[in-house]
Order: sequence, then structure tokens, then C-alpha cells
Amino acid sequence: MRLDWNTIDTCFLDMDGTLLDLYYDHKVWHVELPRRLASKDNLNKTEAKLRIELITEENKGTLSWYDLDFWKRALDIDIDEIEIALSHYISLRTGAIEFLLALKQKPLTLFLVTNAHPRGLDRKLEKTLIGNYFDHIISSHEIGLAKESLGFWKGFHRRYNFNKSRSILIDDNLNVLKTAKEFGIKHTYGVQRPNSKGEAYSSEDFFLIENYSSLL
Ligand SMILES: [Mg+2]
Repeated sequence: MRLDWNTIDTCFLDMDGTLLDLYYDHKVWHVELPRRLASKDNLNKTEAKLRIELITEENKGTLSWYDLDFWKRALDIDIDEIEIALSHYISLRTGAIEFLLALKQKPLTLFLVTNAHPRGLDRKLEKTLIGNYFDHIISSHEIGLAKESLGFWKGFHRRYNFNKSRSILIDDNLNVLKTAKEFGIKHTYGVQRPNSKGEAYSSEDFFLIENYSSLL
């Protein structure tokens, strides 16, 4: 699956599940949050998960879903506190740094483009130091729409004026890939196993990367 990097001058990389192991986010949102909600509101685990699931269903793929303040208001639980308490689980995916190092050697403009809330983003950058590899770091919260929306890509493009036909996006979120492709990003790749302890994804529409070195 080698790419002709001479045809690419702009690289967009997602953070969670792409450069960082999604296991951390899984622990925060699917393990610790339901546990705390159950204990606070005297629910059993299934009831707590269902309540979170209902809010997720209504908001998935929107900026609210990625907004720590939205969840705090919805559940009356301090998500920042959970994220900080579990921050020892934040970790890079295998091969991520090697990939970033290799990209840095190329004549590319490197963007980190994430739906992560700015406070969560800052914590992850502080912990992993991946910010040093990028020319630009953008949270979709700055644009006002999640990456799943075409409007995000339009707003992002207005701001940075990149050449879509010489751009690549790597993102573990298949809906984001779909929107980016619709917008005109020429190369779009997914991630086969965003959570190292979770199951592998499959897709008929996108090539899912198992090992970043195969792209180089
Ligand atoms: Mg992601």
C-alpha cells in the first residue's frame, strides 16, 4: 500500500485512535463514566450505560458529543476529573512516533486535526509531546463543527487554503473519512485497530492501515 509521497504536500492526522491508543478514551467513556454515574445516581451499570447511550445517540458526530462541558451539564459529572484520574492510560499507538519522524523528513505541511475538546487535547499533548511534530494543531471546536460535518472542512479550508488534491487524511473515524472524501481530500485512510485491546474494524470504502510503516 505504498503511496507516492511526491504527489502529496499536506498531511492531516487525527489524534485519538490514530496516533494515540483509543483504549484510554474507552476507559474514560465506557468504563469509568458509567461507573461514576451509577454510583452518583444510584443506578445499576446497565441503566447508567443506557442513559449515556441515549445521549450519545442524539449527539453522536456533533461537536456536543466531543464537548466536555456538554457532558458535564448533561450528567452532572466532571469529565475533566475522570480524564485526569485516568491519564496514566494515555499512550501512543505502536509505530506512531516512527511514522511522525518519517513524515517530518518529507516536504509536507503536517496538521493534527482532532475533534478532541481543547482541554483534553492539551492534556494529551502534554503527556505525549506529539505536538512538536506538527506545523498546525487544530481542534474542530475552533471551527465550530465536528469533522463529520462538511461545514468543518469548508471552514478549515477557508482558514488554511490547502490543496485538496495533494492532501492525505488518516483518521480512525469512518464517518470523518467519508465527509473528507466528499469534500475532495484525495487520499483517505482509516485505522484497522484504533483501540489496541478492542476489535479490528473493517470497511469496504476505505483502506484501513494496520502498520504505518506500510505507507512509507
Ligand atoms: Mg479518532
